[in-house]
Amino acid sequence: MAKISVADKLGVNKFNVYEEKSHIVIDKQYPDAAEVDRVVRICPAALYTADANGVRFDYLGCLECGTCRVLSGGKVVTDWQYPVGSFGVSFRKS
Ligand code: SF4
Repeated sequence: MAKISVADKLGVNKFNVYEEKSHIVIDKQYPDAAEVDRVVRICPAALYTADANGVRFDYLGCLECGTCRVLSGGKVVTDWQYPVGSFGVSFRKS
C-alpha cells in the first residue's frame, strides 16, 4: 500500500470559503509569545504563523477541529464559530 502524506490527505478536502468574514477571530498582537507559540504549533492545518510583527492567520483551509479554540481559552483566539451554513470544509477520502 502506498504511503500518503498528511499534506496529500488534506489536499483532497474541498473548501467553500465564506469570504465576507472569518469564522475565527484572533488577537494579532497577543503579548505572550508562549501562548502564541502553542496555537501556532497545534493547528493541524498549519494556518497560524507568528513573528516579531505579531500573529497571522488564514482561515482558508480550516478543518473546523476546534483545537485552537480549546487550547487558547479565549487568549489568542478571541472568537470561534463554525462557518455559516453551506460554507467550510467538506472532508473527502483520497
Ligand atoms: S479549528 Fe483546527 S484547523 Fe481550524 S484553525 Fe483551529 S486548529 Fe486549525
